[in-house]
Amino acid sequence: MTAVVWLEEVGKDDVSVVGGKGASLGEMINVGAPVPGGFAVTAQAYRDFINRSGIADDIFEALKVDVNDPAALNEAADKAKKLVLAGKVPKDIEKDIRNRYQEMCKREGKEVFVAVRSSATAEDLPDASFAGQQETFLNMKGEDQVFEAVRKCWASLYGARAIFYRVEQGFEHEKVNISVTVQKMVKSEKSGVMFSSHPSTGEPEVIIEAAWGLGESVVSGSVSPDNYVVDRTNKKIQNKFIASKEIMIVRDEKTGETVTKKVPADMKEKLVLSDEEILKLAAQAEVLEKHYGIPQDIEWAFENGKMFILQSRPITTIGNGAKAAESDQGGKVILTGLGASPGVATGVVKIVTGPENLDKITKGDIMVTVMTTPDMVPAMERAGAIVTDEGGMTCHAAIVSRELGCPAVVGTKKGTKTLSDGMLITVDGGKGKVYEGSVKKAKEEASARTVVAVANKPITATEIKVNVSMPEAAEQAAATMADGVGLLRIEHMILGLGKTPRYYINAGKEEEYIDELVKGVRTVAEAFYPKPVWVRTLDAPTDEFRGMEGGENEPHEHNPMLGWRGIRRDLTDTEHFRIEMRAFKKLHEMGLTNVGIMLPLVQHVSEFRRAKALMVEEGLDLEKTDVGIMVETPGAALTIEDFIEDGIDFISFGTNDLTQYTLAVDRNNENVADLYSELHPAVLTLIEYVIERCNKAGVTTSICGQAGSYPEMAKRLVEIGITSISANIDAVATVRETVARAEKIIMLRALREE
Ligand code: PEP
Ligand code: MG
Repeated sequence: MTAVVWLEEVGKDDVSVVGGKGASLGEMINVGAPVPGGFAVTAQAYRDFINRSGIADDIFEALKVDVNDPAALNEAADKAKKLVLAGKVPKDIEKDIRNRYQEMCKREGKEVFVAVRSSATAEDLPDASFAGQQETFLNMKGEDQVFEAVRKCWASLYGARAIFYRVEQGFEHEKVNISVTVQKMVKSEKSGVMFSSHPSTGEPEVIIEAAWGLGESVVSGSVSPDNYVVDRTNKKIQNKFIASKEIMIVRDEKTGETVTKKVPADMKEKLVLSDEEILKLAAQAEVLEKHYGIPQDIEWAFENGKMFILQSRPITTIGNGAKAAESDQGGKVILTGLGASPGVATGVVKIVTGPENLDKITKGDIMVTVMTTPDMVPAMERAGAIVTDEGGMTCHAAIVSRELGCPAVVGTKKGTKTLSDGMLITVDGGKGKVYEGSVKKAKEEASARTVVAVANKPITATEIKVNVSMPEAAEQAAATMADGVGLLRIEHMILGLGKTPRYYINAGKEEEYIDELVKGVRTVAEAFYPKPVWVRTLDAPTDEFRGMEGGENEPHEHNPMLGWRGIRRDLTDTEHFRIEMRAFKKLHEMGLTNVGIMLPLVQHVSEFRRAKALMVEEGLDLEKTDVGIMVETPGAALTIEDFIEDGIDFISFGTNDLTQYTLAVDRNNENVADLYSELHPAVLTLIEYVIERCNKAGVTTSICGQAGSYPEMAKRLVEIGITSISANIDAVATVRETVARAEKIIMLRALREE
């Protein structure tokens, strides 16, 4: 029996022969979709290899470990992978693979670049979905490269995450097989994804996302793509949104490798697709949906003006969600928003309209509200997940949920209307989706992800710190092994008191207030000692204080975000600033000299000077205290040299604010959320400007805005030369890994250039 089959020889019923991916590609070719040609190495070929080479027993023996022990899991994975990579592949199998690639080249009239992808399958459960076994090798050329890539795909069956996932799902390793597809690469000048029906409402609209170059940039989310909507009922283009496309992934002509490049200036704001191309894609999407009888999530590309379909699968939430979308046990997406705090939870909806009905939240309930407020924190601690109508990635609900480790979807616009008390729903806080009923697969994949993230801790030259807002999260934050706290917010502690600082001052209870501050900061500073903890002085806008005792006289401002907050408030109400300084002095006297002071919303060096003068007046020893500023206004960024001259010890980018003030986009307004991008070239230019000057002067630079938790941003910051990155608790491991890789790439590049 041959080890390989052409893709056109298989169809959707051949999942056990060529895996889900191979079967789907074959099926599409057979219904006339323009799929790039190729072949599949069968699952049986893999089985024959491990049996005939005699490594099967050793592999399965190695896998008998406790998968909840990360070290044991990684060791088992390494052992099994090594066996596959070193095992002797029977001559006939190897020959079949090599010959088939050569035949493919003959068909194409030249030696072709191919994509080699794994496609796992289970003997008795051909439909099972296998997370974490999606190894892909792009741009392989020549029979040696192709054969080695096939072998690496086989080995991917034993990645740590794949092993964990199978055990959790109750699959026997012995019964899981792997097929590998080898498919002609499309050298696309443009590509993207499309949904044959609206992914959340199911309406007959084709949604197309498009960017320049290979599709990886759209699939991975590293570029903001153009977005087009086609109404299927009248076949008309309903909407075209042009995004600013900063990067593209292309194949390097010389090396054949995939590389990320800047999009040329004249193409950044240009529509990727013509009307004709949009309609052609939409028509193809409709054909595929009709054929499969279920909405499809499709990857497509254009090469020399020719359309290709690369993949089509049911519109998935996670795993095979579209099937779930129609199934009885639930899984239909009923609401989407911003994935503000990762994790998946299923529970019963409880709508909260204010403090009066917080009691109805019992452990594990899903709290649904317009927007959370500080007095809701105790109820948030009980909630299994949180859904809000309003807000962006840095709103109260988002920040607090992340620290509580509670999944949250914010900015859904209509959560309180769509959902009602008593409904059973599943919230995916990573993907920003809310499903009807209980969706089991989503939960399993999320837990598989967590285990792998904790398994290794690379050492990075760039320091990786963590953001903290609630003392209750101190231990959890310290457990990330972060190099310090890059931002300790005190607003959540103060708002949680229910009384404004002014209340304490007016009542002559300053000492009580100082004690509260000391207590909160101390918990965090002790958990991290001697690593630095940068505590930010108060930065609460007036609208947040008004509802509290003592907040009766807070001014009504048209624009609280541009109003009396941050250092400008503390420099007019110096009584409060002095009290904060007394708290810092007390902490230092307790020996917690790792506490540094960070000033928010600074926009002119005179503010820094006045703040320092007050610190000295309150008896702080500035020689022994790290004092720095948040760079979160373009004003501070563009005058950074004045601050350097005045002796700042560090700066930290508050990109949540820096982005809103640079782009004039309210960070908490879901109506303009699509315009909010920390990767906007203007924001990046300001960041680069500041880092360059600080590096020259030896001033430490950091970031504590939400963007520091995004791998794409972390990578850019390392390239620009930042000293440290402070991420949210849940993002520390991923950011650390991203930074480690970015640093290695820089070193490797330098070595190669030498
Ligand atoms: C920021 O603006 O990026 C920041 C970290 O501060 P906050 O989100 O508290 O305004
Ligand atoms: Mg800020």
